[in-house]
Amino acid sequence: MTTYTPMMQQYMLVKQDYKDAFLFYRLGDFYELFFDDAINASQLLEITLTARAGNTDNPIPMCGVPHHAAQGYIETLVAKGYKVAICEQTEDPKHAKGVVKREVVQVITPGTITEGKALDGKSNHFIAAAESIGENEIAFAYLDVSTGESNCSIIEGSAKQLIQQVQSYAIKEVIVTEQLQLLLAEYAEAGGIVLSLEMEEMEGARAAQYVSHLPANLQGVAKRLLQYVERTQMRSLSHIQPFNYTEANNFLRIDTNSKRNLELIQSIRSGDSKGTLLWLLDETVTAMGGRKLKQWLHQPLANKNAIESRQSIVTELLEDFFLRDELTGLLKNVYDLERLAGRVAFGSVGGRDLAQLRESLRQVPTIQEKLINSGHEKCRILGQKLDVCADVERLLAEAITDHPPISIKEGDVIRDGYNEQLDEYRDASRNGKDWIAQLEHKERELTGIKNLKIGYNRVFGYYIEITKSHLNNTDLSRYDRKQTLANAERFITEELKEKEALILNAEEQSLALEYNLFVALRDRLKAYIPRVQALASEISELDVLMSFAAVTDKYRFTKPEFHEGRSLRIIEGRHPVVEKMLNKQSYVPNDCVLTDDKNMMLITGPNMSGKSTYMRQVALIVVLAQMGCYVPADEAILPITDQIFTRIGAADDLVAGQSTFMVEMLESQHAITHATKNSLLLFDEIGRGTSTYDGMSLAQAMMEYIHEEIGANTLFSTHYHELTDLENELVRLQNVHVSATEQDGRVVFLHKVKKGAADKSYGVHVAELAEMPEAILQRARILLEQFEATSIEKPNTSVVREQTPSILEQVPQKTADEELQLSLFSINEEPVIAPEQQEVLDTLTKLNVMGTTPMQAMTLLY
Ligand code: ADP
Repeated sequence: MTTYTPMMQQYMLVKQDYKDAFLFYRLGDFYELFFDDAINASQLLEITLTARAGNTDNPIPMCGVPHHAAQGYIETLVAKGYKVAICEQTEDPKHAKGVVKREVVQVITPGTITEGKALDGKSNHFIAAAESIGENEIAFAYLDVSTGESNCSIIEGSAKQLIQQVQSYAIKEVIVTEQLQLLLAEYAEAGGIVLSLEMEEMEGARAAQYVSHLPANLQGVAKRLLQYVERTQMRSLSHIQPFNYTEANNFLRIDTNSKRNLELIQSIRSGDSKGTLLWLLDETVTAMGGRKLKQWLHQPLANKNAIESRQSIVTELLEDFFLRDELTGLLKNVYDLERLAGRVAFGSVGGRDLAQLRESLRQVPTIQEKLINSGHEKCRILGQKLDVCADVERLLAEAITDHPPISIKEGDVIRDGYNEQLDEYRDASRNGKDWIAQLEHKERELTGIKNLKIGYNRVFGYYIEITKSHLNNTDLSRYDRKQTLANAERFITEELKEKEALILNAEEQSLALEYNLFVALRDRLKAYIPRVQALASEISELDVLMSFAAVTDKYRFTKPEFHEGRSLRIIEGRHPVVEKMLNKQSYVPNDCVLTDDKNMMLITGPNMSGKSTYMRQVALIVVLAQMGCYVPADEAILPITDQIFTRIGAADDLVAGQSTFMVEMLESQHAITHATKNSLLLFDEIGRGTSTYDGMSLAQAMMEYIHEEIGANTLFSTHYHELTDLENELVRLQNVHVSATEQDGRVVFLHKVKKGAADKSYGVHVAELAEMPEAILQRARILLEQFEATSIEKPNTSVVREQTPSILEQVPQKTADEELQLSLFSINEEPVIAPEQQEVLDTLTKLNVMGTTPMQAMTLLY
């Protein structure tokens, strides 16, 4: 250590505390990085690696970025999942004895970054914390440092459910305990999520305001999160709001898988929002409204009054196009109040931000007036509730100029008349400038040189400039020569120098005072943050409700009605996203009627006929309705649904390293164990991932179980035609099919859902549609007839029930069908197996596939 210079020693001391971050060490106009930081950063940022000859035998690797351009580099590192600790000079080098004092002033991490490209206006940027609180329960807290919103909840399940939750909110960083870190490491790495350790919790009194209202088992995780944010941000967090916690049963709960399957927020294919319900619904005009809409999609309501209260505002807005039009115009001028409030708290707010805040607040009285005078009851109440924050607007109007620059150090931020002293300095400097203009005029007359001018530069200050052509016939005795240019000479005079001192002095004082006034104003504004946040929340709700009205208008939605019972009646329902995507082709609407007597549907029909679209459409209508929006149907009378579970499609699950079938079973298990009679279950093609009879038995057993034990509204689709016989057995089950018809010997999908089971031979029809060679089609028709003729009894329901407890453990009996299939391909000779092949086979046989991670599998394969 002692072989290093004092400065490098200081660096190393600081770096010790920030081992997990790139340390940006301020040296004059640069941030420098040293040692491994420098080597790694030079590669990641593509900047030149140099060396500092700390001691000449061992030059220290070094690289640097200019301080004014640092933001971009920091963002790049953070986007790649790294942390950056900013170490500033904390004393004026002029006054320093020895090495200038330096301290880390902020650590920027993937979850706490509040500026730049990482932030999307219409999305929250959350950082989360998680902690195990029981056998199968995880306490989960998340907050958005840029807006101050914070929430917590309990996740039922294990690491996987946690990661799914984290991914569904697009969270980049999770604060964990050591125990959880081990459990999560593999998932996190695969998902590009940064895990950060935090050992401490924010201490009692300081944390109380944020967490005291929470259930005891959630407080710890919230305090750990607060501690981490405070420790890394090292600045005022006064805008962070008390953690939101609402009992889960106030909301329609949709597990992360189902959110994905239904494509509420993220599309399954592309991962972005195109083609999702969010994409269809988002006609919001403010960034805050966009974020609020997302939150509502994550958590639709489950309380009739609350839903109807949103609905009634939508109804009023829908009726009054003129009002909506006016409000949209006003909302367009409202900037992101939440993030502006966040910057006020952070102390990073600039002059232009405050002008935006003022501009936004100026819209509010008109918004209020329009609502109150709209003649609509609910709008009037909404208007009366608004706190327009007129005092904040007045303060900003008095203090801030009309068009302040971004920087707060260049002046022109504080308005004339706000502060007497500032006005005096400004007068002095302005008078001085007038005096200079007069001097120029006077000198021109005295010398008779028309293009004589007085200029200014930083090095020489004010000067008189005379071009070469005039030099000879001018009396230069009054001037001091200062600088020679190619075609001109620059001079000063005694008088000019005196005035210059006065002007510069006044200007310097004015800028310094202006800066101080700005900082004082910024501090004063902190007191208003909670009110601005409350206003932001009201405005964003209005924006979302307006968006609902706009979408309802555009896509011809109707108002759903709710009742206390459990029956569901949708007449001429549509899948709004598929409908929109179909463009000119028309979407075929379908009814879905589930009554207390018949609340399960078994849907059959060819592939591509629209089974899964139909099921999703029912779920989307339920979601839309419980968000308070209208729905794509001619009529909808709905129960209040408590949870939606879906088992749709083969979502790949490489992270967990499970087979598709295992995923299918896990999702089904989750649905079956958590569903209540008030839930909605959608099971698309259950059992597809395994052999025919295995899958069919499972599907049937599940339907029976749901019928007997749960009683939830359930839609099942299947290609096991045999299952349609269940209608005779399960009284509340009804068969429907999605119809297809033949035209000129071809299948035409009608997408129409009709009563009864589908025709059996649709597989061959679809092959025909795919223009399979006629020879194959003919052969398939013959085989089908043979199979149908020889097919033995299909497993009878009672047999399935009497089977041993775990169907998964069963070795399926070979059926006649399978024998026949095998006989087509079987080879009679015994295969010869070499010893090394036997070894491979033995290893594979012994392997516990379900208990093998992808990494282990790769190693084994290798
Ligand atoms: P399945 O689940 O039966 O295989 P899908 O639900 O995936 O079929 O539907 C296949 C395609 O058929 C959809 O992508 C859509 O383009 C179209 N489709 C489905 N339902 C309808 C409908 N009601 N009206 C018009 N087109 C539809």
